[in-house]
Amino acid sequence: MALDETTITILGATGSIGTSTLDVLARHPGRFRVRALTGYRNISLLAEQCQLFRPDLAVVADAEAATALRERLGAECDQVGVLYGEEGLEQAAATGADVTVAAIVGAAGLRPALRAVADGGRVLLANKESLVMAGALFMDAVARSGATLLPLDSEHNAVFQCLPGNFCRGRPVDSGVTRVLLTASGGPFRTTPRPELEHVKPEQACAHPNWSMGRKISVDSATLMNKGLEVIEASWLFGIDADHLDVVVHPQSIVHSLVEYVDGTMLAQMSNPDMRTPIAHALGWPERLASGVAPLDLVGLGRLEFQEPDHDRFPCLRLAYRALRAGGSAPAVLNAANEEAVSAFLEERLPFMEIAAVIESTLEHASTGDVSDVQELLAVDGSARQVARDFIRRAGATQ
Ligand code: NDP
Repeated sequence: MALDETTITILGATGSIGTSTLDVLARHPGRFRVRALTGYRNISLLAEQCQLFRPDLAVVADAEAATALRERLGAECDQVGVLYGEEGLEQAAATGADVTVAAIVGAAGLRPALRAVADGGRVLLANKESLVMAGALFMDAVARSGATLLPLDSEHNAVFQCLPGNFCRGRPVDSGVTRVLLTASGGPFRTTPRPELEHVKPEQACAHPNWSMGRKISVDSATLMNKGLEVIEASWLFGIDADHLDVVVHPQSIVHSLVEYVDGTMLAQMSNPDMRTPIAHALGWPERLASGVAPLDLVGLGRLEFQEPDHDRFPCLRLAYRALRAGGSAPAVLNAANEEAVSAFLEERLPFMEIAAVIESTLEHASTGDVSDVQELLAVDGSARQVARDFIRRAGATQ
């Protein structure tokens, strides 16, 4: 093994972020060595990835999936250990790799991401739900272990790139930062009139105009909840309160976010909308790595537009600000209700416009006090899901 090889584990390797990460790695042979890859249900893709990247460990959802993966790998790949379930994920997150990519979708990503943070290496965070649910616990764990937390979300990665070298988390004013602006594409329904939103189908919601992503985050983009989750994520990552975090709609998705300074300067990070750019940035930081993304053609683009978000058609953004300001476990309740509502929408059990209604009702009815550990947080998550499911059942019954 070459001395300067960086070891890497990818949690959620079979997803959109996972496959983009492997695409970047494949462009740098000899530079990275894969320790562990985790998937869940997509056994054929995980088997292909194992054949190509030869990790020490692969993890899947359950015993049946593990048997299926072992069969696919056969004798040719018998050096790959196959594990499953929570224990398997825990082991994958604790391989002591130099870099761990946390890219499992939803609340399921929290424990493995926390385990990776406890290991103290470099953690590339895509799973925004971890910070939304458990911001305080998560950032405390980072401080305790000394892990280097780098954002993969394109907006947060952009903010990270635009912040000054002397930026101190939680004290933006000291480094002249007055505001952070997250850009939002506006999603597939940016110009859709409200009456039509009542009838949109999952396939329409998942057809994002600029980004290719997993189904859950695609629906979040369509409701603007994705931007709401990102506001909460940014608040924890950079220690900036809700009053200094704004959202601006930018349909072209070229400017990924901006930082405003006291002297009137505004710094923006721009690139084509392709997650391989933030992934390569975080993999190589502070070096720059080739990502395979084409350079921007500014003249070809011609113009960039910026607009106010429409809170009437997209109430989820306002709900996320409300949860951030309420603090305690309110963001965890928001996240749980959103995951339940999005999954009901994807299964055609809930109309699109009811997603926000379910989240709002859950925020009003679930308990949102302070939590002191992950166990308590998961209990809040569980009971909020129950409350949300009741609202979903009632909304479904009146369709
Ligand atoms: P995908 O749905 O494409 O992939 C999710 C990954 O998580 C897959 O590897 C999936 O395995 C695995 N997985 C699903 N459920 C579980 C579970 N219960 N336990 C363990 N693993 C599970 O999601 P994305 O890649 O789009 O998103 C991943 C995360 O990154 C999300 O938190 C999202 O918000 C965030 N993000 C995504 C961006 C994007 O462009 N896609 C941009 C910025 C952030 P399998 O497929 O094998 O079942």
